[in-house]
Amino acid sequence: MTYQGVLKKMMTSNNDVVQYYLDMEADFLNMNQLINKEITLSFVKYECLNCGLEKQIYRQGFCQSCFFETPRAGDWIMRPELSKAHLGVEDRDLEFEKEMQLKPHIVYLANSSNVKVGVTRKAQVPTRWIDQGAHEAIEILEAPNRYLAGITEVALKEHVADKTNWRKMLTNDNEDADLVAVKEQLSQYIPDEAKEYYLKANSEEIHINFPVEKYPEKVKSLNLIKTPTYSGVLKGIKAQYLIFEDNTVFNVRANEGLVVSIEV
Ligand SMILES: [Zn+2]
Repeated sequence: MTYQGVLKKMMTSNNDVVQYYLDMEADFLNMNQLINKEITLSFVKYECLNCGLEKQIYRQGFCQSCFFETPRAGDWIMRPELSKAHLGVEDRDLEFEKEMQLKPHIVYLANSSNVKVGVTRKAQVPTRWIDQGAHEAIEILEAPNRYLAGITEVALKEHVADKTNWRKMLTNDNEDADLVAVKEQLSQYIPDEAKEYYLKANSEEIHINFPVEKYPEKVKSLNLIKTPTYSGVLKGIKAQYLIFEDNTVFNVRANEGLVVSIEV
């Protein structure tokens, strides 16, 4: 069977083991069912996720002009502390920004290779943690908007990482951390404006199990533009990475906007 479609990040559901789904236009693939099967991935063309044109992808699935124009790629997405919708100030499209920013947001700790702090919309829990490959996570604070969550993250990352080491995450080189203890220790650094939103009671670690049969010892990243066709046996999925038997890994999210074919 051959499937074709423009890559968008895999959808997930957090069951005993995370289930991954890839939307391939005419088909909806449960990627877990492809584990231990040989699949062939091929690059077909570009297709910008905003304008739909066949233009080279610049970042986040968008062509260069869309990346600098669409409200879906404003600076406040990567840097929540720059959010201004709560002040009624527009970045690119105030209605869209109100819709996205003036919603409950969670500041969390996630452990994928190391403990890091992050921000996500409440509706994106636990999706965000799965997408980062976190095997455990905990909520720190629930803010009424993105800005307050963002300034909290900025304050906390003085004391804890805000990045994941993706190679360690993919080789499963990690340690269990006592996230409850880290959360309590960090709570003193929450900015005054956000202190009232600290989640005192909500102190349970969430554990996530990824469908990986065999972790690679080292990883080599597949660049589908330079190597337009790749075949390998899928051994697992973690975060947004497909992990193959020969240590090749393919980051679906980083390849958004590429039209690919998948032959099973
Ligand atoms: Zn575009």
